[in-house]
Amino acid sequence: MADSYTIKMPQLSDTMTEGVVVSWEKNIGDKIERGDIVATVETDKAIMDVEVFREGFLSGPQAAVDSTIEVGGAMAFLVASADDVQGADAEAPAGAEDAGSVGKPEIEVAADIDVPEGIAHTIKMPQLSDTMTEGLVVSWEKAVGDKIERGDIVATVETDKAVMDVEVFREGYLSGPITAEDSTIAVGEAMAYLVDNADQVVDTQHSGSGGAAVVEAAASATPAVRKASTPMPAVNSNVTPAPRPDNKQATPYARQLAASLHVNLNTLHGSGPDGVITADDVRHAQPIERPTEIGAQVPAHVMPEIQVPGHGRDMTAMEKAVSHSMSASLTMPTFRVAINAKPGAIIKAAKAQGVSVTVAIAKACAVAMAKHPSINWAYQPVDKIVERDNIDIGMAVSADGGGLVVPVLRHCESRSLEELNESWGDLVGRARKRRLAPEEYANPTFMVSNMGMMGVSYFDAIPTPGTSAILAISAAGPEGMPLTITADHRVVNGAEVGMYLNTLKTAIEQPEDWMGPTGPAIPEGDWDYDVVVIGGGPGGEDCARDLAGHGIKVAMVNDAPFPGGECLWRGCIPSKAWRAAADRVRDRAHDAHLGVMGTNKAKLDWDALEATRRNVLETRGEMALKTDTGVKIDVIQGYALFESDHRIFVDTSTNSDNPHARTPLGDGSDGRHISFGCAVIATGAPPFVPPIPGAAEGVESGGVLTSDTVWGLDGVPKKLAVVGGGAIGVEMAQIFQDFGTKVTLFEAQDRILAEVEPEIAKHLTAILNDDPNLTIMTSTGLSSIKGKPGAMKLGYKDSDGKTHTQTVDYVIMATGKRPLLEPLQLDKAGIETENGVIKADARCRTNVPHIFAVGDVIGGLMLAHTAGQQGRVSAMTILGEDMQYDQDMDSGVIFSRPEAAFVGLSVEQAKAKGIDAVEVKMPMSIDAKAMITNETHGMIKIVADKATQRVIGVHYLADHADTLIGEGVMMVSGKMTLEQVANAIHPHPTQTEMFGEMARRLLSRLRRSKKK
Ligand SMILES: Cc1cc2nc3c(=O)[nH]c(=O)nc-3n(C[C@H](O)[C@H](O)[C@H](O)COP(=O)(O)OP(=O)(O)OC[C@H]3O[C@@H](n4cnc5c(N)ncnc54)[C@H](O)[C@@H]3O)c2cc1C
Repeated sequence: MADSYTIKMPQLSDTMTEGVVVSWEKNIGDKIERGDIVATVETDKAIMDVEVFREGFLSGPQAAVDSTIEVGGAMAFLVASADDVQGADAEAPAGAEDAGSVGKPEIEVAADIDVPEGIAHTIKMPQLSDTMTEGLVVSWEKAVGDKIERGDIVATVETDKAVMDVEVFREGYLSGPITAEDSTIAVGEAMAYLVDNADQVVDTQHSGSGGAAVVEAAASATPAVRKASTPMPAVNSNVTPAPRPDNKQATPYARQLAASLHVNLNTLHGSGPDGVITADDVRHAQPIERPTEIGAQVPAHVMPEIQVPGHGRDMTAMEKAVSHSMSASLTMPTFRVAINAKPGAIIKAAKAQGVSVTVAIAKACAVAMAKHPSINWAYQPVDKIVERDNIDIGMAVSADGGGLVVPVLRHCESRSLEELNESWGDLVGRARKRRLAPEEYANPTFMVSNMGMMGVSYFDAIPTPGTSAILAISAAGPEGMPLTITADHRVVNGAEVGMYLNTLKTAIEQPEDWMGPTGPAIPEGDWDYDVVVIGGGPGGEDCARDLAGHGIKVAMVNDAPFPGGECLWRGCIPSKAWRAAADRVRDRAHDAHLGVMGTNKAKLDWDALEATRRNVLETRGEMALKTDTGVKIDVIQGYALFESDHRIFVDTSTNSDNPHARTPLGDGSDGRHISFGCAVIATGAPPFVPPIPGAAEGVESGGVLTSDTVWGLDGVPKKLAVVGGGAIGVEMAQIFQDFGTKVTLFEAQDRILAEVEPEIAKHLTAILNDDPNLTIMTSTGLSSIKGKPGAMKLGYKDSDGKTHTQTVDYVIMATGKRPLLEPLQLDKAGIETENGVIKADARCRTNVPHIFAVGDVIGGLMLAHTAGQQGRVSAMTILGEDMQYDQDMDSGVIFSRPEAAFVGLSVEQAKAKGIDAVEVKMPMSIDAKAMITNETHGMIKIVADKATQRVIGVHYLADHADTLIGEGVMMVSGKMTLEQVANAIHPHPTQTEMFGEMARRLLSRLRRSKKK
């Protein structure tokens, strides 16, 4: 039988050393496919399938049902062809791997009791946890003589931790000798029997360990499962099996024998598979000298047991388990570290979210462990550390009727608080009744003991082997709640535990960092306003409107007569008025393409354009003010500065002609003090003028214009220099080129539009350079600016380092924006800044819990809709709702021709975040609508996450991208899959059809590459 494959008894758990064949799911001679289940086996814990990952034909010799096979021993064979198949009782094939374990049924019988004839199966005390060595028969659920079906529960037993069902996976009749209820049986010992026929049933009872001696099977099995080389000694089953050895495995029988013979398993070398200690190893070992009388000499390596006068009662299973586990913990070199934490915030937060405080603290432990993972590791004998990612926290619960049970809350690192709370409720209920399954209390990775709820002012706890630390929580006193960790110094050191405790303290004291808002953020107090919003731009206005809409008393302080901020008065809206005029001029050039003649000599009336622009701004400003006051926002004109973290001064003593001065309006002689519960800073960011020699003087003289002052131009300049290739610079440069100005755009970096997808930005640069009046000069820095308005002279170095000069009418300085923080007196409120912006988190909270900051003043994408969204996020957070700003979903449009636009991530950005991203793109030149209107420049790209096939970014270089972006925004924010986009019915003929087409293409590509 050439090339046979041995189907071996698999090792299905760490503690499994052997398994019983429960059933064969395939017959000898059957064709076996990869992945077929050929048999089921019973391990020390459960019934499991045996899968085969090869093809072949099932062949003998085959282990009989009910036979016990050592882990790694042969159960049967797979052969290549049907002709090679051997019968179940055949000889082991030559050349096959050790087939010595193919066994016949092995039945353990108690030697001195009446054993029924025709035993089909021995019902043994199962080992239901790693620490279980014996169990107490609580009840018989079936009576002797009952017909038993596969899967029936015949009894319940009490382990060291819980009351468990004993299931039987065979058919037969329940037969005695049956162990009496309340008797204690060693793991593996017979509790009762199953016989094939009703007339074989024996109706007798015995009291478990009280007398029965367990013997190994007679060596008649062929080949024998356990080949005992030494005659079997009788084992005293009255004795509790020896504890598991520290650094290896031992068979249950070996442990039983070790206890009887007083052999220390830790000193033995295992000769079984993978070094498992067998009964044979025990038989050959030296017995431990046990002290027989008080005062006898105790060897140093054996723990002396202090004799106590009096008559002790037997420990319960649970007491014994605790005793053994705690004695084992004495091998751990532990130390203690303590810290105090104020529990008020987490108690409030847990109540607000309807979860138990215990679960919230467990989650806080896991949150802190993300930063200090070693607290969750464990020492493994010998000289190994188990580094684990799953955080499974064991927390003690008092069982009804006394004793402690420690259910384990699994995966605290990844499951939500709500999920954990639900699991905990279920676990606690069953733990109290001691009805937990082994996997629900086994192997915690960290433990928490809370005696605080009993008013205990201080205690420490003992970690059990398998964990490296336990947290003891005592009752809160004036200093807070003592948190004490007892830790295993082999795994963690004092500094690590100290740092962990500090992180845990923060997680407990500031639960909103990881739990989200824990209720309205407005502190109790007699404030003039619940919330003061400083700044009336998109950020401030959207925030104030949301708050007012929820009945909050809000003041919005703005240093201008009308709201709208930069966006309305100096940014988005005026620039789009100019862009609209430039579009009309530009589009005339395309008229001839469609045969419309005589319109290509467009002429701009500057005054008419400016009149329209001003009218739009003023109308919208008035509309905004009416809406704000209409929704009951107190709009206050003046410049606000902090006096404390609950008070501002609003300077209303205006001494400036410029209503949009962006600096304190007056000298503080007039104004009012306002107290507030919460404040939202939305003061924007004025244009930044870099320290180029002559630039500041140019701003002073009016020869250098910024986005604040360009609106004062009284006509279209002939020659213009734009400094800065960001969105504002690119828009301004092309608008004026369309108006007929000769424009040079200087950009110090090697590309324009840093926030735009690289390929899109590169193509746009080429298209802009094709505009007749526009030159883009990248990698070119200005070295000097001189002159007066109408005659400005620039010195610059090109990319080769050569110096040049250029004369222009004006310079537009578009070199970014920077918040003006100093006049706000942030230090009076203790507000922190970072790199020139106010530090704020995704909920727009500053470091001061009741002060928020939104929009340009916090940096990031300085865009109006970003500010608006952040304004709404801060309002929701103040109201106690859970909302965050996510830049990965944000979008933007650069109003050039064609327009560049983005939403979500580029492939480059996605990869930097560890996402396996893929893109599909389509040029506008193949689109019918684009061909008709001669708007064929550019492309659209869809970026998707390969794993989830969700759209995570859409990027555009296309005319009308300002409208087309809408669908991209919905795809990304709606987390749509490629399939959903592919199946959406897009109307024809529109450019939106391209989205469906691209999604289908990418799906097809992904399908094909997956096949390969
Ligand atoms: C030319 C140009 C074009 C733009 N185009 C677009 C575009 O097309 N799309 C887009 O999304 N974004 C565009 N932006 C950007 C957009 O204008 C800003 O991102 C947006 O206005 C920021 O909103 P904000 O609420 O943070 O601040 P702002 O709009 O700047 O509002 C802040 C307000 O607070 C006031 N203020 C400041 N300090 C105080 C104080 N201490 N007390 C009282 N009031 C104070 C300011 O005067 C101002 O009214 C453009 C910007 C410019 C310059």
